[in-house]
Amino acid sequence: MYSLSFILSLITITFNSVNSLNVTKTFRLNNGVDIPVIGLGTGGFDGAPQGELVKQMVRDAIDVGYRLIDTAAYYGNEPAIGETIDELVGSGKVRREELFVSTKAFLLFGDNSQAVTRTETVHNVRLALSKLNQTYLDMMLFHWPSDSAPVNQEIWRGLEDALQLGLVRTIGVSNFDLSKLEQLLETAKVVPAVNQIESHPKLSQRPMIDFCNQYGIRMTAYSPLGAGSLVDLPLLTEIGNRYAKSAAQVMLRWQIQRGVVVIPKSTKRYRLIENINIFDFNLTDEEVKLIEDL
Ligand code: NAP
Repeated sequence: MYSLSFILSLITITFNSVNSLNVTKTFRLNNGVDIPVIGLGTGGFDGAPQGELVKQMVRDAIDVGYRLIDTAAYYGNEPAIGETIDELVGSGKVRREELFVSTKAFLLFGDNSQAVTRTETVHNVRLALSKLNQTYLDMMLFHWPSDSAPVNQEIWRGLEDALQLGLVRTIGVSNFDLSKLEQLLETAKVVPAVNQIESHPKLSQRPMIDFCNQYGIRMTAYSPLGAGSLVDLPLLTEIGNRYAKSAAQVMLRWQIQRGVVVIPKSTKRYRLIENINIFDFNLTDEEVKLIEDL
């Protein structure tokens, strides 16, 4: 027979571990809004963007403590994500104010033919609101810049209008390199709060982090696990063994210790739990540097 104190200690351990999963740590953005340091990536469901898989992933993620949901018009899953948010908020599982819903539009890929005017930009933000069935967005990102600085600056003015109109709480960019960011800043009234770009141990993006720090822009790392390709890197496994953590947890912790938001994607509940369970260890400065030099 187990003693009462043993049973109580088990309950405490369970409670604490659930609690630690639910801890949502945040970074303060340059507009005073707090963004969770880790969010759920929802890209990459080609062929089934509206499916039950996406909805279940969002349900699981919110259940285990994620509060930032990263989507995009391009992913085709805004309606599925909106429906799931409605379901979870409606059932009292989470309050809307606790969530940070981020989407992206304006995927120009160097092509100027799809360029939209300032007015059309605001219209596209309203379209995202309607697809996600939300009254406001926590963040709208300019998904991919054109090669034309005037085109990018025009869209940015539209995003500034959307901000002014209260349609979005935060505006930012994605896939902007240093020169495109510099060009945008020449005319921007509002400095982007975020630049979301690809970053992982094989693409550390140190110059971008330094530039962003100079202007108060927060970098977000997409594909932070190298799209799943880096989870067997020996150095990461070796460092992880020191803390009883996986290579994936080391990669994600490395980014948040560098001040970078991460948005890993997983359809597996156990990996969603693994990926967010990164708040109980600290990499040394030397380890951070070793990973950065990989
Ligand atoms: P990622 O998050 O680096 O990796 C996802 C892959 O790793 C999936 O195949 C996943 O498989 C696997 N995985 C997840 N956790 C794991 C773990 N703990 N151990 C082993 N494997 C694991 O790559 P990503 O999906 O390319 O990037 C994340 C998000 O960034 C996207 O979903 C999207 O929201 C965003 N993104 C933005 C842009 C942009 O242009 N702004 C571009 C690309 C991506 P399972 O699902 O089977 O677990």
